[in-house]
Parts: sequence; C-alpha cells; structure tokens
Amino acid sequence: MRFNTKLLHGNKMGDANTGATLTPVYQSSAFYQPSAEQHEKLFHNKATGFSYTRINNPTIFAFEERMTTLEGGIASVACASGMAAITNALLNIVTCGQEIVASTSLYGGSIDVFHDFEAFGIKMVFVDISDVNAVEAAINEKTRVIFAETIGNPKLDVVDIEALAELAHRHELPLVMDNTVATAYLVKPIEKGADIVVNSTSKYINGNSNAISGVITESGRFKWNKEKYPGVAEYARFGKMAYTAKLRNGLFRNTGACMAPQTAFYNLIGMETLGLRMERACSNAKALAEFLNTYPDITVNYPGLACSPWHEVADKVLTNGYGAILTIRVGSKERAFSIINNLSIPKIVSNIGDTKTLIIHPESTLNAHSTEKEKEDAGVFNDLIRISVGIEDIEDLIEDFKAALA
Ligand SMILES: *Cc1c(COP(=O)(O)O)cnc(C)c1O
Repeated sequence: MRFNTKLLHGNKMGDANTGATLTPVYQSSAFYQPSAEQHEKLFHNKATGFSYTRINNPTIFAFEERMTTLEGGIASVACASGMAAITNALLNIVTCGQEIVASTSLYGGSIDVFHDFEAFGIKMVFVDISDVNAVEAAINEKTRVIFAETIGNPKLDVVDIEALAELAHRHELPLVMDNTVATAYLVKPIEKGADIVVNSTSKYINGNSNAISGVITESGRFKWNKEKYPGVAEYARFGKMAYTAKLRNGLFRNTGACMAPQTAFYNLIGMETLGLRMERACSNAKALAEFLNTYPDITVNYPGLACSPWHEVADKVLTNGYGAILTIRVGSKERAFSIINNLSIPKIVSNIGDTKTLIIHPESTLNAHSTEKEKEDAGVFNDLIRISVGIEDIEDLIEDFKAALA
C-alpha cells in the first residue's frame, strides 16, 4: 500500500468485533480480567491485554499501531503531549551525570525542558546540527544521545539525517529525531537511520487542533551497549523492543504520561487525511513563499526556495514537498506586528499544523524565555514572523497578504 491508502486501510483500522469502521473510544479507566492467574500474567508481561488506561487502552493502542506503521518503526508509546513524549524519550536513556547533544534550532518548549533537565544533573550541549564537525566535537564519553528536529522550528533548517545518524552510530549513540514539522509525509527518519522518532501529534497528525498529544516510535535497530545503557540492558529479554519495554514498564507509566482515549480517537480520525492536508498545505506554503519573495523589503525563509541555505539538503532528505511553514523577516518588530494585525485570514495563534493558517511573532512569545544567544542560534529575530500555512484557497491567502502589506 502507498502512503494515503495505508493511512486508511493500514494496521488496526476500525473494530473487527463489530465492523465499526472507526476504532471506538474505550472510555474506561480499567479492564477486568477473567481470572487472578491472567491478572498475574499481565503484570509480569507474560500475556498481552489491558489492565489500566495509564498503562494502555485499546483506542490508544490502535493509535500507537497506526503511528508505528506510519513512521516505519516496531513500537510506539502514545503520550499526553509532545513535551511528554520528548521528556520520556530522552530520560528513558539519560540520567544524572550524563550529557545530551542537541541542536540549537529547536522548538522553544524543548529548549525550556532541557533547562529543566539540567536541574537533575543532565548536561545539555547545544550545537549547530548542520555542522558535522561541531556535533562530533560536542560528543564525549558522557554523551548518551543526539537530539534534533528534522525541520527545525522556526529556523526551518533541514537536517541531513543520514549523515547525522552515521556520525551518531560511529560513536555508538542513538539518534532521536523530532519529526513534528516534517511528518512522515515528507520524511521517515527511521528509513534514514534515526533510532527513535518523536512527534507532537497535536500538530499535523491530529490536523484539526482539537487535542494535545505526542508519540514516541522506536526503530528496534539500535544496539544498546550494556555498560552505557544499563537500564535498557535490564530489558534485554524483550529483544529489539528493549527500549520501549523499559519506557512502558518504567518512566512512562510511573510519571503518568499517558494519552487520553478520546485524544487517540481524534488522532485516528485526523491522521486519515494527513497526506491530503500536507499535500495542500505544502503547495500553499510554496506559493505563498514565492509570492512574498517578490517583495524586495521582505526576506523569506522556506526550504522550498532556491535561496534557502537548506534547499539542497531538503531536496536530498524530503519527498513530496518542503513543509508548510515559512518565516519572513520584515525589517522591524513594529512592521511585523502591523502586518500580523492587518491580516484577516491567518489567526494569531501559538500553534502549527492546523487546517487553518496560523501566524505568530516568535521572539515575543514562544522564545520569551530564551536568552539573546539562544534566539540568535534558533534563527529568531525581532522582525521575524512565522506562518504555518493551512489548506485554504491560496488565492485568498495571497490577496490577504497583499492587502496587509499594502
Ligand atoms: C509543538 C511542538 C512540540 C511540543 O508538543 P506539544 O504537543 O505542544 O507538547 C515539540 N516539538 C515541536 C517541533 C513542536 O512543534
């Protein structure tokens, strides 16, 4: 099956018991067992099934299976938010006294949570992820993982995943990629060598912005060295799924990071149209980027434009398009605010990946907690506007921008 067909007919479609075409919402906190023996087996990972929704639930499980298929992994863990997914994905393998090498070009919330990690004795080393030498120089014997976004938000730098994975593996480190901005429609990081993929499914996967959630998907390929990752080694009996088994039996269940069944239901519906929405949103974004690029006093950043420093990498890494987010620099904060206020279709929202076009001034909002250096490294300036392009008619968007700029 190809991309769109698989989204509709792949893994865990509907409900085989009743013929329901959608997976029902199992709005139940707990599940009864036929016997005490069966209950014991469940708690010892010797039987599959459901006991308590904080650990798993049939609606959530259906969504996890669909995400595993979508990203081409072997197992997924659905979380309450993208931030919960990132936190769990990393703390599952990194502990006090160890280090994480991460891109400087990350979603503001990720940079914030990494500062929280520092309070627990985990050292963050931020580097320009496009600079292979800088990444290599940042690695030492305490490093346990490399973390980056496939398309950085909002710098829109596209990562050469194959090169980064090769570097990570040469140092026996796993590569964790946040695929929120690109989605599996544009790239499957696991196919390019990433070991673990996280998605904030609040964005394009859900698609309509009706629920917050995230998901962690593992490739099953990384060889967890016993000395470096003793915690994962304890789950060696789960073979390729040791990382996920540790997560599910440990931090994920114990911190209560679970997704709500209703959210899994919304995501299952939303993801059916991921391909259609991405196709339209990416084509709209490209057209809007080309239109805005005709203004001599506006600098457009979009990986689909030949003038983007990441255009060449984008052509190598991405298929089907260049993403649905672009940024523009307009000369001053005052002009940025004036343009934002004069637009009528794009809504002023701190979100991306909606069906509707959303607009934001990142410097005064998302990066409000960042230092000047962090902002600069993340490509955030006070005259910068981020546009998350939706699926409206492109003519309406262009007319609206033309009027606002006039
Ligand atoms: C939104 C976002 C997150 C955080 O996800 P939430 O679901 O809001 O917790 C993480 N990474 C990226 C790239 C995002 O855009």
